[in-house]
Amino acid sequence: MRRFPQPIVNLVAAFSRLPGVGPKTALRYVFYLLKQPKADLSVMARALVELGEKIQVCEQCFTYSERTDCEICTDPKRDPSVVCVVEESRDIATIEATNVFQGLYHVLGGTLNPIEGMTPDVIRIKEITDRVEANTNIQEIILALSPTIHGETTMMYLQKQLARHGRRVSRLARGLPVGATLEFADEVTLGDALKGRRGI
Ligand SMILES: [Zn+2]
Repeated sequence: MRRFPQPIVNLVAAFSRLPGVGPKTALRYVFYLLKQPKADLSVMARALVELGEKIQVCEQCFTYSERTDCEICTDPKRDPSVVCVVEESRDIATIEATNVFQGLYHVLGGTLNPIEGMTPDVIRIKEITDRVEANTNIQEIILALSPTIHGETTMMYLQKQLARHGRRVSRLARGLPVGATLEFADEVTLGDALKGRRGI
């Protein structure tokens, strides 16, 4: 890579850190960008800087937001008695698109996968158990994790942790393809899975 000027090398290194992008693809992106108008590059660079400067994590549900108290947590029309546990912030957008769920969320930030270092203290399990303990008005916790091996393991672990608090713990109905991630579920299937959720 030394044969390229340093700014090219730097951006190739940055792109190579993205999931699924190797050095060759990264180099292709950089050469594509070099052909774009300089103004477009500035717009893109500003968007990246703003991402770092303006995006925060909600202190209650841990979703990405421009505020530390997100739009959903502070919406008086939402039902605070039901909390839906999801793997990542992006899953909230998928569930919101179904228009079926009116409660609040909790973003775990991953699923249990000890081999890859995802142990219970790394994902936000203590945060949800603390939240349930502190909020007696929470009556139901929906575990809306993908039906993958790691999603299933995490739901079993969470169910055990939450059972001692005596609230209803439910999970999405079958119907989502086994092994698939929530990210790729269509709105109708996911909406039905939410409506047909069952206690565990
Ligand atoms: Zn929030």
